[in-house]
Order: sequence, then C-alpha cells, then structure tokens
Amino acid sequence: MKKYVIALVVAFCTLNLTYAQHFNEYFVDKTLRINYLHIGNKNVEKLQFHHFTQVNHWNGTRSQLVEPYHYGDLLVEVIDNASRKLIFSRSYSCLFTEYRTTERGETEIAQMEECVNIPMPKKPVRVRFISFDRYRTATMLKDTVLDPEKLPMEKARKEYAVMNLHKGNSPKKAIDILFIPDGYAKSDAKTLRYDMKRFAKYVMNCTPYKENRRHVNIRAIKGFSEQSGITQPQNNLFVKTLLNCTYNALDLDRYLMCPGVWNLHEVADDAPYDAIIIICNSEKYGGGGIYNFYCTVYNHGQYPDYVVVHEMGHLIGGLADEYYTSEVSVQDFYPEGVEPTEPNLTTLVDFGSKWADKVESGTPIPTPPVSKGHPDYDRIGVYEGGGYVAKGVYRPTLHCTMNSISYNDFCPVCRETLEKVIRYYSR
Ligand SMILES: [Zn+2]
Repeated sequence: MKKYVIALVVAFCTLNLTYAQHFNEYFVDKTLRINYLHIGNKNVEKLQFHHFTQVNHWNGTRSQLVEPYHYGDLLVEVIDNASRKLIFSRSYSCLFTEYRTTERGETEIAQMEECVNIPMPKKPVRVRFISFDRYRTATMLKDTVLDPEKLPMEKARKEYAVMNLHKGNSPKKAIDILFIPDGYAKSDAKTLRYDMKRFAKYVMNCTPYKENRRHVNIRAIKGFSEQSGITQPQNNLFVKTLLNCTYNALDLDRYLMCPGVWNLHEVADDAPYDAIIIICNSEKYGGGGIYNFYCTVYNHGQYPDYVVVHEMGHLIGGLADEYYTSEVSVQDFYPEGVEPTEPNLTTLVDFGSKWADKVESGTPIPTPPVSKGHPDYDRIGVYEGGGYVAKGVYRPTLHCTMNSISYNDFCPVCRETLEKVIRYYSR
C-alpha cells in the first residue's frame, strides 16, 4: 500500500514538472494582450488587430495552458511556429456574437472592441482566432504569425490602488476575481469601499466559492469616475465614468455593458485577474455577463447578492440562463438537432456529455415538474424549458440560481461546473 502511495506521489510531481517545463519552454512570465476589433453583422464577420499590450507577469494558469472547456463562441489558439504544437488556447464569448442575432445585426455593420490575454511567447507563434455559430460551424477569422521580438507593444501603466477583499492562494494557484467600480465619483468614496466589501461577501458566502476559499482571491481597483451614476441613453442621461458603462446595450433597457473593452483591461492591469466584475453605481436594475469576457452588476436594489453570483455564473462557468420566459427575441438560439455548449442545458442530442450520470435510474425523461414542497422537488432530472426556450431545451432541476431570483441555490450541475473551473485556475 505504502509503495503504491509513493508511486502516486512521484507520478504527481513528474506531471507538475512536465507542465512547468512546458510553460517555461515556450513562454516568459509576462502577458501579451491582443487588442482587436470584431467587425460585421449577421452575414459577414471580420477580426482586425488594433494594438498590442505587454503586462509584467502572467497570472493565468500554467498547468493547463490548453483549455479543456469549449463553452464559448470564440477560440484563440497559439501554436509554436517551429514545432507546430498547440501551446495555449482559450475559449470565450463576446457581445458581438449576441449583436449578430438582433434585428439591427441583420443589416447594420458594427465594430466592437475585444481583446485576449495570452502568455508572452519566447519565439514566433502562429495565432488563430476561430468563431463558432449556434450550429458549431467553425469560421477561421484570423490565422497569422506574431514575432514577439518585432511586435510593437505598449506597456501597461500602474495607476490605481488595489483593495484586497479575500485572500486565498497566490495568483498562480487561484482564480483571481477583480471588481472594478464604475460611476463612483470621489464624493462616493465611502460607498465604493462599502460596496466592494459587501459584494465580496456575497461571493464568498455562496456555494461553491465558500467551500473553495483557498482557491479564490478577490480584489478591487480603487478607481473613481468624473461623475456619479451610469449612462442611460434611453433616458437621455449621459455620465462621464471610468469605464463608460451603459444601459440599453443591444437596445435592451436593462442590459448593462462596457463598450470600451480595451480601457477596461488597462484599468484592470493594476491587479492580477482571471475574471472581471464591474460594479456599477446606479439605482436602475441591470447587469450582464458573458463567458470569459466580463460581467456587470448594479449596486442598489433588492437582490444584489443574487444578481452578482448569477452573472458570475455566465462569466466563469459559461452557464446558460435556465429560465424560459423572456422578452428577448432569441429564435433559433438553440437550433434543433444541436447540443448546446452550455453545461446546464441539453436538447437530448448528446445528453451523455451533460448530467446523464447524475440522473437516478427510473427518473422519467423528460421529467414532469412538481411543486415546491413535493418530495421530488430537489430531484435532478431533465425538465423541459430553459435558455429562453419553452420547448425542446431541458434544464437539470426545478430551482437554481441560474433559473430564478434565488441566492446561493446553484443546482448540482451548475455547482459542479463552477467548482471545476475554480479548480482549473488553482492547479
Ligand atoms: Zn443550474
């Protein structure tokens, strides 16, 4: 038995060593940020590089440089140009993909700021950007060689003080959550400090963050805005803020987004980050969250604890909304015959790749819903309705933080997904 344990320990060390060598073989401890424009509409799509930023330190994972999850609509791949080995990849989604599904996106061309952080390569690399539609058809948007020796790069500036709100392991061994306040003027300094601490508590009192305290860091940038409040173009209210966040994104009243993505990351550079949460000083209900992109939340109202962890579910876990009553027009969002990428929805096309192993034998599929108080209310099953669609799309449980206003109530599937991602950053 003892021998077996020793053998396991040796294997584990060797594995770590191999990964560490892998990082040092291809990368230096810096970040290369590729800032680009995503241009097009429903029918055309183009990606145009704009500028490159160099940041001292790489704070992302070093052990799993090729990301195992493909929850996003976009994928960036970095390939060593000499050996043709895939040495880094990252999946993410963006506002542009959502824009393409809107009425305006059918004809009008939009250009949106986006960026991606990759570890700084030592030698020339081939960088590929691939986009996927709802049918998972891949389109190569860019395939080009970047030579770090010849690339003009702007250096990240240090500008803001950083508040430490929850301290777990070092940034290399934890998910680094970063709060950035928007719309807090200098006169709101007290509210800013109070809000950052308050939101950190909402996150850390929620499962599975609570159980993974050591694997989570939360910091906040202490950045003030020229004016107090958040822009609401539909109400003719325009506010000069640090990040210029705005309601009415994609013409949806409550959709609160940050169009200046390059500036957002420049502000974020003062602290290590894997996930950016923008906390907006506004009384108007709103928020939004996009997988591996950023999320926003307003600071007032009745359910800020629920809103922040719900939006972080989109941002960190790539989780879908499990509700299916919505004013948003999302026809063909989950086309028939295609399994959704989101881990908490299924069309039963490939249910084996989802939570089939969690469904007790004898559970009817689809599972008939029961009311609260019924002995089967907590049962994991296959309940019809989810992802804004009432028919043909299924969710794992009858109640979940991704379904309705209910704080600290992620269903076992969402919980496990979030935990997996937290651990991914902690290896
Ligand atoms: Zn769920």
